[in-house]
Amino acid sequence: MSQTAKTLHIAGSRPKNKAQLRRHKDNLYARISETRFNRYVVHDIARYRKYVDEGGAEIYSQAELDSLEAAGVSDRLPPRATDYYLNLARTSKAVRNLIKARPEEMEDLSGEKDPSNQLRYSPIPGLLHKYELCLVYVVRTCSSWCRYCYRSDFLTGKTEKDTASIHEVADYIRTHNANVAAGDITDRPEVREVLLSGGDPMVLSNRNLFDYLNGLAEAGVEVIRIGTKEMAFYPQRFDDNFLNMLDLFHELHPHVLVAFMVHFTHPDEFLRLNDAGEYVRDKHGHLLRNPLVEIAAAHLCARPFVTLENQTPIIQGVNDDADALRLMQQELKRMGVNNHYYFQCREIEGFHAFAVPVETAWKVHADSQRGLSGIERSRFALSTEAGKMELISVIEGDNRFRGADDELSQALAEGLVVFRLHRTPYADRQSDLVVARRHPQALWISGYEDRILYDGRVRQSGGKWSPLLTLLTPALMRAGEDSPANSTGLLLQELGSVSA
Ligand code: SF4
Repeated sequence: MSQTAKTLHIAGSRPKNKAQLRRHKDNLYARISETRFNRYVVHDIARYRKYVDEGGAEIYSQAELDSLEAAGVSDRLPPRATDYYLNLARTSKAVRNLIKARPEEMEDLSGEKDPSNQLRYSPIPGLLHKYELCLVYVVRTCSSWCRYCYRSDFLTGKTEKDTASIHEVADYIRTHNANVAAGDITDRPEVREVLLSGGDPMVLSNRNLFDYLNGLAEAGVEVIRIGTKEMAFYPQRFDDNFLNMLDLFHELHPHVLVAFMVHFTHPDEFLRLNDAGEYVRDKHGHLLRNPLVEIAAAHLCARPFVTLENQTPIIQGVNDDADALRLMQQELKRMGVNNHYYFQCREIEGFHAFAVPVETAWKVHADSQRGLSGIERSRFALSTEAGKMELISVIEGDNRFRGADDELSQALAEGLVVFRLHRTPYADRQSDLVVARRHPQALWISGYEDRILYDGRVRQSGGKWSPLLTLLTPALMRAGEDSPANSTGLLLQELGSVSA
């Protein structure tokens, strides 16, 4: 740890009135320093043209820029990136594709304005309370914008999502937890964990971040996650002033774990590349890392109250490559970053330009797990309105059933996909399954809705079985006709009565 934390000497454990509170806060703020970063953020096409004129990294031709303007890509999401990331993009195709706008994005704008219907779970502005944890929107931008951004509705202000006030959030958590303790709320546990999101919280000042961290800890939160891609977009942000603020926070709240939910999408974002875009190795053959990322990760990993977890979607032309994903998982773990989730690209407006089909993404991810140890592995999931649905298996169909025209044979010929409700807002559905007939072109769970055979998202147990029952009824009726009291007949009777 490069920073030595000093012991705080604040009179009294808690300020007792407003004047004391102000002095207490001023004392703390005096201990926090800010760095004047120059991220050199290039926002939108006109600014990019100017940046190139000034000698900036060229990742578009003039013709490409003209066609982007003609297609109106900025109406969906203006292209935006730091000078640091644009320079990385010069030597990495994957990095380039992550931030580089394409006219095709505008060809099919179908998708959800509010992906996964998040506003349904928003009891106060800027706060989502869906799982046992709360998500808080703290800022409306990131230093670069991923073209596949699943928060683009928020970044561009297309939905009524807003940033949160820490005071309102803390009040909400205190009230909720008091109600849980009193037994007035029984269907949700107390809030122990909060995810700071946006946008990217790491574009905020250190004092602003401290306010959120401190306010949440004082409200009783034990785990604070910071969702950030800044370690890829601008790793210089994790500097001594930021680390000092983190240490100050830890002195005040030693019991709180801070989890950085980092977002590396491709190994090119943190491994060292030469000008030809090839990985550089040391004399022992080990891959070298980008020194800025390596230092940032090392400083965070050196703090026992910090963990780093990576999660990212699988995106067409960026990381839909099992070898790249395998390498990423190996090297992230070696750098001290845990591999958490790989996600299916969300159904944002225009997602057809970025998503690979669900079953293809699953296969890429499953292939990437080969050769990984237990501690390097990750999950592949869809973050849906019903919760995190892990795709646990795709079962090949049986060709012997092909050609038959009844639905049961068609299902057997097509094969099955099996999802597990890994994380759901409803305790009674935890770890239940959703089983559907395969649909290799489906880009989202909506592509399976009319193919589901067993639906663990449904609360009534009979309802779970009803799609399968509908499919099997003709066959069961035939089998049950001869002997209605046999097991087939009884099963039919039972399922019929439960699903009624
Ligand atoms: S880092 Fe996250 S919030 Fe920011 S642009 Fe990328 S996907 Fe969107």
